[in-house]
Amino acid sequence: MDQATDSGADPLQSAGSSATEHGPKVISVLGATGSVGDSSLDIISSSPDRYRVGAVTANGNVEKLAQIAIETKAGFAAVADEQCLDALKDALSGTGIAVGAGEAGLAEAAAWPADMVVGAIVGAAGIRPTMAALEAGNQVALANKEALVCAGDLVMDAARRLGKPILPVDSEHSAIFQIFDDANRDEIEDVTITASGGPFRTWAQGDIEKATPEQALNHPNWSMGAKVTIDSASLMNKGLEVIEAHHLYDMPLEKLKVIVHPQSIIHGLVTYSDGSMLAHLGAADMRIPVAHCLAWPDRAPANTRRISLVEIAQLTFEAPDMARFPCLGLALEALRVGGNLPNIMNAANEVAVAAFLDHQLPFGGIARMVEAVMDRFVQLGEVGPVGSVDAVLATDAAARCVADEVRANLV
Ligand code: NAD
Ligand code: MG
Repeated sequence: MDQATDSGADPLQSAGSSATEHGPKVISVLGATGSVGDSSLDIISSSPDRYRVGAVTANGNVEKLAQIAIETKAGFAAVADEQCLDALKDALSGTGIAVGAGEAGLAEAAAWPADMVVGAIVGAAGIRPTMAALEAGNQVALANKEALVCAGDLVMDAARRLGKPILPVDSEHSAIFQIFDDANRDEIEDVTITASGGPFRTWAQGDIEKATPEQALNHPNWSMGAKVTIDSASLMNKGLEVIEAHHLYDMPLEKLKVIVHPQSIIHGLVTYSDGSMLAHLGAADMRIPVAHCLAWPDRAPANTRRISLVEIAQLTFEAPDMARFPCLGLALEALRVGGNLPNIMNAANEVAVAAFLDHQLPFGGIARMVEAVMDRFVQLGEVGPVGSVDAVLATDAAARCVADEVRANLV
């Protein structure tokens, strides 16, 4: 399905396409038109001696994608929405940049010869492109946490086969990556992910229930895409991140902790058996974890935000309130049960967040909808192990159907 590519160019001949051993690293950006895409392209374009762009993709924003492709001299550009292929061809005609669309186009972009592929697509839509990148032998720097939540075992197995670790772009996981002593992993007592608490941290439950999309989109510390911003307001984002950390670091649920830290200065902590607690600090600037990934295993200067601890003066911490933010508990439960339940939960959450943004569901309805969908699959006994990407996506589709049904019956 979704066959619509028109690359017509030899990837090894066209501009910005081939990974070379000595020149700048070739970086492809999947989801180049989004917020993490912006951060990635900013780091890439500010160090032309170090990085150049291979392939770029977007869902359907042809204008922005074409502009990015031209400005960065990308070798290949693809849109997920096949209806946009003609517009993309027109926008890039005469540039020598090859184009593609649909699932095949995204797979071609992911497999384009590159030193690294930044996975910055939002949602389960990122699963196949992430796998395509790994299967083509490209190292992945992953922002798309949903790929790990839904298909973590498959993604991690593919990375292991490739022999190159998944580099986390998510700020908390990048923090942990930098302080996690794998050689002494048995001495790790716990791994802590911090949460800002989002815009409703201090709100009463009744007010959170009826919060509007505009209020939920008003994140205190981070500027991000709409879906992850809503997830941050419900704390589902932190739940997804615990599952993400479970896969990235092979840590059991009991060793994964969440702590609310409203200043978003400490992003992650690791506690060792000798009582040492290591923390990673930095500004709330996604270009920092992106810069870390792109330079890895080296470090390279980046024009990212710096913090002054004297100006910040106080770092505060509190326990997450599971009663006012039930999505966090639902995600932890999904991880506890395992199998396909995190995938089912993610699908329900994607449907619920879209409905909320469309003013079709109250904010409090997100958790109710996710819980109802999870319950339905648990009762039916249909949460069995994750088998293949096709099976994951079939379950994702089934969960979206149930979510639509559930929504029709939700108050
Ligand atoms: P965004 O909405 O700003 O951008 C999403 C990108 O994915 C866009 O380029 C869009 O065109 C593309 N896309 C959307 N739907 C698609 C589909 N069906 N098929 C193919 N491409 C599609 O999102 P974002 O905030 O950049 O987040 C991207 C991912 O990174 C998410 O998984 C998010 O949780 C994670 N993340 C984001 C941030 C952040 O600061 N924005 C921080 C940590 C993790
Ligand atoms: Mg994060």
